[in-house]
Amino acid sequence: MTLSNPNRALKPCPCGKPVERLYMTEGSTFRWRYVEGCGCGWMIETRIDTMRPKDSAVDYQECVEAWNEMPRASVGDRLNRE
Ligand SMILES: [Zn+2]
Repeated sequence: MTLSNPNRALKPCPCGKPVERLYMTEGSTFRWRYVEGCGCGWMIETRIDTMRPKDSAVDYQECVEAWNEMPRASVGDRLNRE
């Protein structure tokens, strides 16, 4: 299996700190994960695919995707404008 790619680039936390790895904790149900980057309190909740066999490496990849897709820039833009 070559699912985990340690060199996969992670976008920085919305607080501005670079993120080297994500921390996952179980969300409101087993289908969800809270994903945290630098420990400043910023986190997202993302749904994982529970139809496939359980595999924490795949969970992690899904969380990486969700983290990188988090709309951090637009949030910052809005705050700066107000
Ligand atoms: Zn942060």
